[in-house]
Amino acid sequence: MRAQGHFGLALLASSLALWAAGVDPVSQSGVALTGAAVASCMLPDLDLPVGLRHRAYTHSLLWALLLGAAGLLASPCCPVWVGAGLALGYGSHVAGDLLTYRRFPPLWPLCGCRVSLGLFRADSRAANSLLLFLGVAAYTYLAASPAIHAALLRNISIPLG
Ligand SMILES: [Zn+2]
Repeated sequence: MRAQGHFGLALLASSLALWAAGVDPVSQSGVALTGAAVASCMLPDLDLPVGLRHRAYTHSLLWALLLGAAGLLASPCCPVWVGAGLALGYGSHVAGDLLTYRRFPPLWPLCGCRVSLGLFRADSRAANSLLLFLGVAAYTYLAASPAIHAALLRNISIPLG
């Protein structure tokens, strides 16, 4: 999948996690999780410039867990949210690539089984653009929803009798 699709998926996953946890996306915790997720969502593709076989060893959920643990132990600020964001961003990359045709082992080294859902080509402009749109829309809605709800409540008068 292309970078825009991965960034969109990281934003979408972050938004869903923050919504489920009831955390304001523009709070310190929300920004820590989202920032860490966006920062880590392209790390699995470091296999390309390093010269490793693409989608062989770096596209494993094991690295998501280890990166999350490293963030938890080493982050000076909001370690739980940074660790969760790093794991979420890395994991969202693996999940995104699973949607495409090319098979790879997401559970390496526990299982070498190569899988993919084959929903679209990795370079699909439509799929990558849709994921970016969904991620930006979800995060924007989550960040703006308190203001939207407050504005709606100000403009709605309910007759009480
Ligand atoms: Zn990838």
